[in-house]
Parts: sequence; structure tokens; C-alpha cells
Amino acid sequence: MAEVVVLRSGYARVETDGVTRAGGSVALVLSERRIIVDTGGPSERSVILGALARNGLVPEQIDCVVCTHGHTDHVGNNNLFPGATFFMGGDCSRGDRFREVDYASGPLEIAPDVQVTATPGHTSEDLSVVVRTARGVVAIVGDLFEDANDALGDRWAAFSRDPVRQRRSRAEILAIADCIVPGHGEPFFGAVFRGRRP
Ligand SMILES: [Zn+2]
Repeated sequence: MAEVVVLRSGYARVETDGVTRAGGSVALVLSERRIIVDTGGPSERSVILGALARNGLVPEQIDCVVCTHGHTDHVGNNNLFPGATFFMGGDCSRGDRFREVDYASGPLEIAPDVQVTATPGHTSEDLSVVVRTARGVVAIVGDLFEDANDALGDRWAAFSRDPVRQRRSRAEILAIADCIVPGHGEPFFGAVFRGRRP
């Protein structure tokens, strides 16, 4: 079984001057490979390094980085991991070597109990990571879900490139996940929402 450690729960808040401050969730998945899902915003380099250090790791020990989507608060520290294999949209790259992944034929298993699956909607190329753990299925989903509060409402649709596709992707994840790590909030229990309108 694999394991998920949330290195930093994402946040988003509107300040009194109307400016939104946000940073995406960063998660570590431990299986036969060490995998980072999203790398936070460009100003958060020390946040990632500190969280890795608290887990006894340095960036050179990370084998793979999965980028849930290309917004700056989710991919800002990719170059902490120059030796890793990257997954983003349909690209899989290592160094300057690229190959294409076609998620239309199903999820891609990147390590035992760890699958990458396409969950488009927030952008056209979103990926989610579905992890089978001893405590159930954990889905790390980027901004497919902003936070637990938007699990049932429609607030997410304001940030969606394609709300129809996103609603479908959300339903697919809710159907299989016991726990969801959203893009901008604490993990929440997907099972609570199962069968309800996503
Ligand atoms: Zn986003």
C-alpha cells in the first residue's frame, strides 16, 4: 500500500484590499517511488524544502513530480526537482526528453497503488493522483475541488474553464475517493459526499 503525506495544505483568501492570496496544496506520495504532487507558488521554495526536510527528504530523493495543472500557485517550484520525471497534461518528461501520455485509454499507474488520471474542467489538462492507502483511497486533485466547502456548492464553477467537464470529473473522483486533498484547503472525506450532487 502507498502512503500520502500532505506537506502543505493549500489556502486561498481575499484580503481587505480585494487581492486574493493563494497557494496550492503540496503532497508527497510514498510507494516504490517518491512522488510530489504540485510544488506550490514561486515564492514558496523554502516551504517545500522545509516540509521535505521534516520528512527526512531532500529534493534529489524525489523520483516523480505530478503537476495537477499549470497555474502558478501549483507549479512554482518544479525546478527544485531537475532529476525527476514530470507529468503535466499529456506530457511526461525527464530532463529534455519528452513522451506523450494518452489518458483516454485510462489512468496511468506510475508506482504500485498510485495512478494518474485525467480530470479536466478547471483547465483542459487537469490531472489527479489516486492513491490506494491502508486507510482507503486518497485522491489528490488540484483545483478540481477548491476546498471542502465547495464540494457540494457551485462556487468552483467561477474558476472553471469547462464546468460541464469539471462536474463530470468531480463526480468520478467522489465515486472512488474516501479522502480528497483539494487545491486550496484541508483534506476532506469524499465518502461523506458520495451519492450527493457534486
Ligand atoms: Zn488553478
